[in-house]
Amino acid sequence: MNNPFDLSGRVALVTGGNGGIGFGMAEGLAAAGAAVMIAGRDRAKSEAAVAKLRDAGRTAEAVTVNVADETSCRAMVATTAATLSRLDILINNAGIGRGQRPEEFPLADWNSVLATNLTGAFIAAQAAYLVMKNQGGGKIINIGSMYSIFGAWHSAAYGASKGGIVQLTKSLATAWAPDNVQVNAVLPGWIDTDLTRRARAQRPELHDAVVGRTPAARWGAPRDLAGIAVFLASAASDFVTGAAIPVDGGFAIQG
Ligand code: NDP
Repeated sequence: MNNPFDLSGRVALVTGGNGGIGFGMAEGLAAAGAAVMIAGRDRAKSEAAVAKLRDAGRTAEAVTVNVADETSCRAMVATTAATLSRLDILINNAGIGRGQRPEEFPLADWNSVLATNLTGAFIAAQAAYLVMKNQGGGKIINIGSMYSIFGAWHSAAYGASKGGIVQLTKSLATAWAPDNVQVNAVLPGWIDTDLTRRARAQRPELHDAVVGRTPAARWGAPRDLAGIAVFLASAASDFVTGAAIPVDGGFAIQG
């Protein structure tokens, strides 16, 4: 039996791959043999991420994108397929959060969160599917959240986008299974990144609350997402589609 987790010869596109969870997953995919396209808005940050991967002997390139913009998002997929010759794996990870009470939530912020976290994932998946179908299959991994499951007073837009990611995943999975394209979602628990560092700065009680509720009794690190990325990107998950898998140290099952 060949190693079912081997990604040699595969090409992966990771949106928001220049930092945080996206980079943790990109490192995992690259270590398993994939060539990785790092996609983000901040070119310098993306170049730094590529340099880190190359220093470790991996194959990596960068593309600048705003996933909230349809033209930019489609160009990202086309550039990846042109630069790295194919596209086997898409990770829709780029995301932003805006926390405010729903009755005060500015519509512009709502639109921005939905455009980035949900519509961007849909457009990238649409564009990637055409390439994957022509190649005989592919893997799409959408990044949800604990707010795909739970609600909070501040998460009207973020929670709607992340709940939507799970339902989008199921729709795409059923539509594209006959083309050998598997679509799954990952629901990270609380992971130490720029995003959550900002949240902790606003809500100092958050740090201890997360540790207290998480059975693993710690925050996650971006590298904790590497394994699930490799699994869902590889032949090991060929019969897994439409799933939403928590990677949360047990946060979601704590009674
Ligand atoms: P970071 O803020 O560290 O990273 C977010 C990434 O998204 C950056 O690489 C950023 O790139 C990119 N990004 C944001 N907006 C856009 C855009 N419009 N176009 C292209 N790229 C964009 O956050 P995390 O690593 O924590 O978050 C990654 C994903 O994981 C998000 O979807 C988030 O919702 C989700 N998540 C995070 C959790 C956590 O605890 N950290 C928990 C659950 C889910 P650039 O800087 O170049 O714009």
